[in-house]
Amino acid sequence: MTAYSRKRAVAVHEAGHTVTAYLHGCKFKSVSLGDGRRHGSFAPAPARGCFTPEVLERRGMVLLAGSEAERVWCARAPGAPGAPADWLERATAGRGRDLQSARVLAEYACAGDVSLCKSWLGHIRGQVLGLTGRGSGDCGDERFWQLTSALADALRSSWILRGKEATRVLDRAA
Ligand SMILES: [Zn+2]
Repeated sequence: MTAYSRKRAVAVHEAGHTVTAYLHGCKFKSVSLGDGRRHGSFAPAPARGCFTPEVLERRGMVLLAGSEAERVWCARAPGAPGAPADWLERATAGRGRDLQSARVLAEYACAGDVSLCKSWLGHIRGQVLGLTGRGSGDCGDERFWQLTSALADALRSSWILRGKEATRVLDRAA
């Protein structure tokens, strides 16, 4: 496993969004490493058509997969400072753009019902954990990590990838 660096953690975070989109057939415009230290970016394709429960669920998974991939990777990488704060703590503290977007999505999916929103997000997170694994013991989906690692490598050399370019990298790694 690649040794910890902040840049690699950012690459894994953005690759986590992208691979989840790729595996679930969600289109995306680009993925980038940003300045490689604090934040990169992942741009999904604009929404078209109607928001079925399945579409909302897939979008929710893509949103949460970045932080989860980063968290699990940080828990395992040699030399890492430890996993970032727990997802739920981060959610209740209101931090993180991804989580904020996921909450907006949950409110839409659950028509604003607060307790439904909570269990919806819990369900989505469960799906994501099935991909990423929970920590050091549980490996998650082998294919997910194979693709995430390949895309993080590609981001290291060309800090921004258009949707087609990223898809090509993933097709080759699959
Ligand atoms: Zn993110």
